[in-house]
Amino acid sequence: MSASLELQNKLAIITINNPPVNGLGHATRTAIAEHLRAAEANPDISAIILTGTGKAFSGGADIKEFGTDKTYAQPSLPALIEQMDACTKPIIAAINGVCMGGGLELALACHYRVATTAVQLALPEVKLGLLPGAGGTQRLPRLLGMEICANMISTGQVMLSDQLVKSALFSAFEIDPQKLRQTTANFAQDIAAVRPLPRVRDLLVEQLVEQKVSTDFFTTARAALKKKSSRFPAPFSCLDALEASLTQDFDTGVKTERAIFQQLLQSEESKALRHIFMAERAASKIEGVDANTPLRSINSVAVIGAGTMGAGIAMNFASVSIPVQILDLQAASLAKGLERIRSNYQSAVNKGKLTQEQCEQRCGLIAGVDNYAAIANADLVIEAVFEDMQVKQSVFEQLDQVMKADAILASNTSTLDLNQIARFTKRPQDVIGLHFFSPANIMELLEIVRAEQTAADVLATCSVLAKKIKKTAVVAGVCDGFIGNRMLEQYTKQAAFLLEEGCTPQQVDQVIETFGFAMGPFRMNDLAGNDISWAIRKRRLATNPNLVYSKLGDLLCEQGRFGQKTHVGWYDYQANDRTAHPSDLVVQMIRAHAQTLGVAQRQISDEEIVQRLVLSLANEGRKILRDGIAARSSDIDIVYLKGYGFPLHRGGPMFYADNLGWDKVDSLLQQFQHGHQGGTWTI
Ligand code: NAD
Repeated sequence: MSASLELQNKLAIITINNPPVNGLGHATRTAIAEHLRAAEANPDISAIILTGTGKAFSGGADIKEFGTDKTYAQPSLPALIEQMDACTKPIIAAINGVCMGGGLELALACHYRVATTAVQLALPEVKLGLLPGAGGTQRLPRLLGMEICANMISTGQVMLSDQLVKSALFSAFEIDPQKLRQTTANFAQDIAAVRPLPRVRDLLVEQLVEQKVSTDFFTTARAALKKKSSRFPAPFSCLDALEASLTQDFDTGVKTERAIFQQLLQSEESKALRHIFMAERAASKIEGVDANTPLRSINSVAVIGAGTMGAGIAMNFASVSIPVQILDLQAASLAKGLERIRSNYQSAVNKGKLTQEQCEQRCGLIAGVDNYAAIANADLVIEAVFEDMQVKQSVFEQLDQVMKADAILASNTSTLDLNQIARFTKRPQDVIGLHFFSPANIMELLEIVRAEQTAADVLATCSVLAKKIKKTAVVAGVCDGFIGNRMLEQYTKQAAFLLEEGCTPQQVDQVIETFGFAMGPFRMNDLAGNDISWAIRKRRLATNPNLVYSKLGDLLCEQGRFGQKTHVGWYDYQANDRTAHPSDLVVQMIRAHAQTLGVAQRQISDEEIVQRLVLSLANEGRKILRDGIAARSSDIDIVYLKGYGFPLHRGGPMFYADNLGWDKVDSLLQQFQHGHQGGTWTI
């Protein structure tokens, strides 16, 4: 039973007990329904208390049952709530902790609510592209008023019980969580005989809240939403359902809410968001590593190299109070790195995101050092020196000499062979890749690279550490580019081939940005620096001369058009302005090159641009899975969503291809094989 029943002094106490957050899974709903029936039928019982164990009243739907028949099996949450509405005895929610989603809807169906302090309350369904489907949009405004409600429901914002202590949501409040049960029991004895039972459904929206909802409230709210989340229908649907709580009677309003819920459930956006939700959870499970693997403790970190990446990496740890040493052999680079860190924290202070005291505390946790002996006792060392195997070799040989036993030795390499790096040490089991993305203090993605001999506890420790520093980690195997950059290689290749066939950089960028990407490939390369990809191409061609690239990127760099840093790249830029202005010169260069190659120019449709770019990612993703570099297709989606600006509402490149159907994908790939540079489309 995932809810228990106790009888005490004429009270029935139903306690939800389904750790970790008392999710309302099928067994839990069944148990609550049975206990309610028993309590109602028992003549000795005058009131019923509903509460939860541990730190939660209920966190809502049970994610273990997501996508299974159990989610909607009877008693469904709406059915349980109808049973509560029909109950002839008062039901009082004793809200002891987290009360979210279906959990809050359950509390709203009680006749009274008694809460303790610091309880988190939310209806977060909108974050999965849905709305509360068990009366939440109809009951909550009847108690809180429309303004707070519209904000809570259309954004999923969490409110604390303390913020709502004076609202009609609570009949009583108990500051001491230890006394909540007793206070609720006393309250229950006091109101046991009160009839009629006060049901939220019987109220009118403006009855308890003196504020009248202004006539243009919804127009204004919709306009505000349009500005920030026009790709997602759910926030707008939340407003539609809330409006129904004003304009329709309760039962009709509930029907409206349910109809909208069903529509949203089928929407592409909600499917994508639910896929991402599950994918994030799946990504933290590492193949072949037991969830109970004992972890190494990480209380201090050293970073080698105070450059672009090293400085950003160090900030991640200082920001969660872990002391960091940064080692750089160049005094000037070290000073510059430390300065950059301070200036980043200071700008967070200036924006009001950090206090001056926090800034000082964080900077105080970061120490610059110039020798290896000084870092010997660090629990984790992350190398972020030049991308050059010889330099990496010298660093790892020295780390092997000085670092204490059991220290984790990590490399931030983007492209080099981590197995080879591990072999520079006599402890390859302790070597791992921690591939941060730039800017490392901001980007959420972390690729954890598993070398042939990386130990299970090293992987498990880094996975937990990633969460601590607020990164989303995905485990990748060793190959050139790991997951993300290996796929990006195909994508940027296709983008350049599109230019050779007749597109302009602006056309490609606009089409893929309309599809939803944060930035098209050419604007992105101008930002990252065209010289960087040029260097990578040269290095790859040196070891593999059969690789096929468009020459356009090289021609661009030969003219010094490195991107924003030189104010010219695929686009033109003005000083201190990141706006990309199309360049006639670049377009002429592209056309002249196409002529030299003898490539026929044609008008390319938006659909073809999207398909060639997105399927170049998915096709490489499939190979990555086949090669065992990623453990699951959803991991690849997470990499692209968190690290490469793939549109959230599309769910990731693999999800996109899954929805298109791989048969269709393959038939498109076969078509592409007959087109320009068709040989690059290997399946
Ligand atoms: P960078 O040139 O900005 O910084 C490298 C730093 O390492 C310099 O400060 C240099 O003085 C120092 N250094 C060089 N040799 C050293 C040694 N033997 N001992 C100590 N310090 C030494 O480079 P970066 O962009 O920060 O890249 C560092 C690593 O991170 C590379 O492996 C790169 O591939 C990887 N990476 C870079 C990015 C990016 O976008 N820049 C993204 C992910 C990963």
